[in-house]
Amino acid sequence: MRALVLRGVRDLRLEEVEEPKVSEGEVLIRVGACGICGTDLHFYRGEWRVKTPLVPGHEFSGVVEEVGPGAEWVEVGSRVVAEPNVTCGRCYYCRMEKRNFYCPNVKAVGVDVNGAFAEYVKVPAANVYRFPDWMSFEEAALIEPLACCVRGLYNVGIEPGDTVAVVGAGPVGLLMVQLAKMWGASRVYAIDLIERRLSLAKQLGADVVVNAARENPVEAVKADTGGLGVDVAIEAVGSSKAISTAIALARRGGRVLVFGVAPEEDVLAVRPFELYEKELTLVSSYRSPFTFQRAVRIASSGRIALKPIISHVFPLEKGPEAFRMLDERKEETVKVVLKP
Ligand SMILES: [Zn+2]
Ligand SMILES: [Zn+2]
Repeated sequence: MRALVLRGVRDLRLEEVEEPKVSEGEVLIRVGACGICGTDLHFYRGEWRVKTPLVPGHEFSGVVEEVGPGAEWVEVGSRVVAEPNVTCGRCYYCRMEKRNFYCPNVKAVGVDVNGAFAEYVKVPAANVYRFPDWMSFEEAALIEPLACCVRGLYNVGIEPGDTVAVVGAGPVGLLMVQLAKMWGASRVYAIDLIERRLSLAKQLGADVVVNAARENPVEAVKADTGGLGVDVAIEAVGSSKAISTAIALARRGGRVLVFGVAPEEDVLAVRPFELYEKELTLVSSYRSPFTFQRAVRIASSGRIALKPIISHVFPLEKGPEAFRMLDERKEETVKVVLKP
C-alpha cells in the first residue's frame, strides 16, 4: 500500500509499504481521511523526537475493511473513527480508578506505531467508534482533536457564564471557541495573528476577536472585562509565549489551561509573584482518555461546525508538499487533511 514515511527531520516520502496485518482483537481500517496535527509537524521538524521510520497520522476516519479473531463484533463496512492511544491494561496507571494515558506502555497510532497517512491502518477493535453517514470523512477526522479538547475543558472546568479567552485560532482554537460556548461561556475572546483565522473564529461564535499583531491582547481583553481579565484562559498554540499571554489574560483567581503541544525544548518564563498574587489555577491536558465517545456525540449533534476549520484537502501523494506548506507557516492554512 502507499504510505507517507517519515525517515528523519524534514524527510517525509511517499513509499510503497506492507499492508498492516490484523491480529487478535484488531480491526483494519481503510483510511478515508487523516488530518495533519501540530504534533505531526513537531515530528517533521524534529521538535518532538520520534523513532523513525514512522508512518505518522493519528487524526483519522475510515471504513472497517477486515476484523481479526475476537473482533467480529465490529461490522465490516462501518464508518469509524479511532482513539489512537492503546494502553497496556496491566500497569499501575491502567488499573487506577480512572484509567488514563499516563500508562508507561502506551502505544499511540501514528506516534509510536505506524499511523494513518496510508491507505490502511490497524487499531484494537475497542478503540473504534462509529460516526453518522451524513458526516464526511474529512469532518470525522476532526473528532480526535475534538476529544482532546473535551479532556482539556474537563480539566479546566468552564462554569456557566464564565468569560473565556482562547489564545490561538488554529484548528484547536476554533474547536475550543465552539466548545466553550457549548459549555456555557457568556463571552468568548479569540486571539491570533492571522486575520483569516480570526474571521473564522468570529463566524464560529467568538464574541470578540483580537489580532495580536495589531493590538495588545491583554489590554484589549482587560478593557472589555472592566479591567479584570477572563475567568478562563485557554492556550491553544503550543508555545511558551502563548502560555504567558494566557496567564496574563486570566483574572485574579482565574484558571489557565495549557493545552497546545510545545516543542520539547521550549521553556516557560513565569513570574512566581504573578502566580501568587493572582492565585491562579494552572492545569494542563494530555491526550483524550475516555473522551472519544463524548466527542463523537458532540460532533454527531451537529452543534459544532467542523467543515469551516478544514482549509485544504490533498491526496496522500501531495503529503510531502502539504507538510512543507505547513512548515513554512503559510497564512492561508488552517486544518490540512490528506485523503489516500
Ligand atoms: Zn493531534
Ligand atoms: Zn498501562
